[in-house]
Amino acid sequence: MPELPEVETARRYSEQFLIGKRIDRIDLRLSKILRDSPIPTTDVLIGATLMGARRRAKVMVLDFSVGLSLLVHFKLAGQWAILLPEGGRLVAGHPVPKPENEYPHKATHATITFDDGTVVQYSDIRQFGWWRIMDTADVDAALMAFGFGPEAVGDLNAGALTEIMGRRGIPVKTLLLDQSFIAGLGNIYVDEVLWRARVHPATPARDISTVKRRAIIRAIPDVMAEGIRQGGAKIIHTVAYPDNGFPAVHAREGEVCSRCGTVIRKTRVGARGTYFCPKCQKPPIVKS
Ligand SMILES: [Zn+2]
Repeated sequence: MPELPEVETARRYSEQFLIGKRIDRIDLRLSKILRDSPIPTTDVLIGATLMGARRRAKVMVLDFSVGLSLLVHFKLAGQWAILLPEGGRLVAGHPVPKPENEYPHKATHATITFDDGTVVQYSDIRQFGWWRIMDTADVDAALMAFGFGPEAVGDLNAGALTEIMGRRGIPVKTLLLDQSFIAGLGNIYVDEVLWRARVHPATPARDISTVKRRAIIRAIPDVMAEGIRQGGAKIIHTVAYPDNGFPAVHAREGEVCSRCGTVIRKTRVGARGTYFCPKCQKPPIVKS
């Protein structure tokens, strides 16, 4: 599932390869992408030049010259592929369709063609992702309405977040997935953060020592930065690729922990598939 590092990678590719280019045409093959769009048609973007690419949590915002913006949320399986006229490809988000194969794929729901021949292929095998087109002036309010917490990248207020964690009785993994607590963390990177901090994902947040809670908060920007450096995690059908050790535990059931050699296990926390090292991350003690 595309998380913050994958969306940030899509944003960076867009900034580097699409800014200053003008849209010639948009072929939209799945109209439900626009189901909640204030402006219900992509026609308004024809002739518009991309001026900026920004991101809040897992929402990518593309700002155009005509005073309109396109918001893109990849949800479970969105993919943003930029095909350059000279032949290169930059692919961010879900690993299906395979970046080396022919586009458009049957799950490619929209194609944006720019004036210099650059093409964006937007694919989504699960069809939960969405596009919203609106006045650029309305974007901040629209993003505010999501109630996102602080960004998982950059400076997190470790003191305040550590204190909030200490008051919550829910499993720490569930808390970290709550976008109003910290925005941008998803299933893959929460498992990574908790492995780095050596905390079992099912541990009630308030049962974790202050030192460990602080370690968790501190691990978050490091894990995000690593994800962005890698261009996002590669998980295909619940198996992690390639074999370069990142992410360390998510989708690596049956492989060994790179820190201690113990076999990584899979469990469920709040209905989410969860991976951990049973030696590095001791399960919580159930109080009678
Ligand atoms: Zn271990």
